[in-house]
Amino acid sequence: MDSRTDYLDKINRITLNFPDEREREYRNYFFKSSLKISRFAIIVVSVIYIFFGYLDSIVAGEFFRFFITIRIIVVPTFLLVVALSYTKNFIRYWQLLLLLLYIIASVGIIIMLVKLPEETIYSSGLILVFLSGAVLVRLRFILFSIGSWLAVFIYIIAAFALNVDYGTIISNGFFLISALVIGMFAAYSNEKFNRQNFDLYLQLERKNTEIEEVNKSLEEKVLSRTKLLNSRNIELRKEVKRSALIQEELFDAKEKAEESDKLKSAFLANMSHEIRTPMNGILGFANLLREAEDEAELDEFIEIIISNGEHLLDLINDIIDLSKIEAGILKIEKSEFDLNVLTKEIYDMFCKDKNVVDNNLNLSYSNGLDNSNSLIYTDRVRLKQILINLVSNSCKYTDEGSIEFSYTIKYNKLKFYVKDTGIGIKEEHQKHIFDRFMQASTSRTLGRESTGLGLAITKTYLKLMGGNIAVSSKLNVGSEFIFELPVGNNNKKI
Ligand code: ADP
Repeated sequence: MDSRTDYLDKINRITLNFPDEREREYRNYFFKSSLKISRFAIIVVSVIYIFFGYLDSIVAGEFFRFFITIRIIVVPTFLLVVALSYTKNFIRYWQLLLLLLYIIASVGIIIMLVKLPEETIYSSGLILVFLSGAVLVRLRFILFSIGSWLAVFIYIIAAFALNVDYGTIISNGFFLISALVIGMFAAYSNEKFNRQNFDLYLQLERKNTEIEEVNKSLEEKVLSRTKLLNSRNIELRKEVKRSALIQEELFDAKEKAEESDKLKSAFLANMSHEIRTPMNGILGFANLLREAEDEAELDEFIEIIISNGEHLLDLINDIIDLSKIEAGILKIEKSEFDLNVLTKEIYDMFCKDKNVVDNNLNLSYSNGLDNSNSLIYTDRVRLKQILINLVSNSCKYTDEGSIEFSYTIKYNKLKFYVKDTGIGIKEEHQKHIFDRFMQASTSRTLGRESTGLGLAITKTYLKLMGGNIAVSSKLNVGSEFIFELPVGNNNKKI
C-alpha cells in the first residue's frame, strides 16, 4: 500500500481529522505554518471591509450611517483577533475565534444584504469578497462549512423576516450557496492537500530517523568490528613476535647445545690426555723406583710421583666441582671468617709453588682491612677456591717478574685484584677464557698443566655468590684479574 492510499484510508472524510496522534501534531504544524498568513489575511479583510464603506456612501443611501456603524463594530473585532494572535495560548482557540469572526462578519453582511435587497451587484460582490476572505484567513474546512451554512440560514430567516421579495432571496441565496460550495471545495482540497503533505512529511521524518538509527547501528557495528580487528591484529603481531622470539631462542639453544656438545667432546678428549699424562708419570716413575741408583735419584722419582699425583688430584677436584655446578647441586655456605688469615694462607701456599721458586718470582700481597678488623661474612671455601684458581694461574703463566694480590672493601663490596707480569692473553681470547672447557691458546699453554676449567668454575662461583669478574691483559706484559663480591661484616650479614 503506498503512502497516499494509506493516508486517505485513515482520515475522516468529512472533518479531515487524522484518527491518531497525528491530529495533534498536525494542528500544531498547521497553526505554526498559518499564523503569519492568517494574521495578514485578517488585516487585508479588515481593510477591504472598511473600503467597502466608500461603496456604501454611493450605494447605501439612507442606510449609509447604519452600515458604517456595522463596519465600525466588525473591524475592531478583527483587529482584536490580530492582537490576540500574539498571545501565548492563541493556538488553543484561534480556529474558534476565526469562526466567530466569520459569523460576526457574515451577520454584518447579511444585514446589509437584507437592507438593500434591490442592489444585486453590490450584494453578490459582498458575498464573494467575504467568502474568499474566509478561505484566506485559514479557517478549517469543517468550521468554514459550519459558518457558511449558518450564514445562509441566517440570511434566509432575516430575509423572510424583513419581507424581502422572493426573487432577491433566491438570487442572493443562489450567489451565497454557489460561493459557499466553491469555498468549501477550496477549503476542502486545501486542507486535504495540507494534511497529506504533513503526513508525507511525517513519514519522511520517520524514515529519516530509521535511516539514522540504522546508520548509527551500522557505524557502531563497524566501529566495534574495527576495534575487534585491531585488537586481533595486535594479538597476532604479538604472537608473530613471540614465535619469532621462540624460534630465535630455539635456534640459540640449538647452537649452544651443538657448541656444548662439541666442547664436551673436545673436553673429554683433552681430559683423557690430561689424566693420562700424570698417570703415566706416576706409573712410570713408580716402576723406576726399584731401579733407582742412589738415594738422591729415589727422592727425585718420589718427588715426581707426588707432583703428578697432586696434579691428578687437582684435575679430579676441578671435574667434581664442574659436575656439581652442572648438576646444580653446588650450594653456597656463608660463615664469618678472617679475610686476612685467608690471604696469608694463599700467600703461604703459593710462595712455595714450584714455578714461583724456580723462576724466582716476586709473590706479594696486601690487605685492605686491619688485622683487628678483617672479619667478613661469605662462603670461605668458595672464596679460597677462587683465589687459588687466580693466583695459581698467575704462577702458572708467569715466567719472570712478579705476582701480587690485594683487596679493598667499600660499602660491603669486596674487590679483589690478582696481577702478574706473565705471558698475557690475546685480546680476542679474553672474552672466551671464562667459558667452560676453554683455553686461551693451546700453543701458549703448552708445557703448563692446563685444563681450561679454572676460570669457568671461578666465574660460576662468583655468579652464585652475587659477584662478577673481569680481566685486563696485554700480551707479553701481564694480566690483571679483578672480581667483585658483596660481603657481610660484623653488623651486617649478606
Ligand atoms: P687452565 O689454566 O687450566 O687452562 P683456566 O680456566 O684457569 O684454565 O684458564 C683459561 C685460560 O686462560 C688458560 O688456558 C690461559 O690461556 C688463560 N689464562 C688464565 N689466567 C691467565 C694469566 N694469569 N695469564 C695468562 N693467561 C691466563
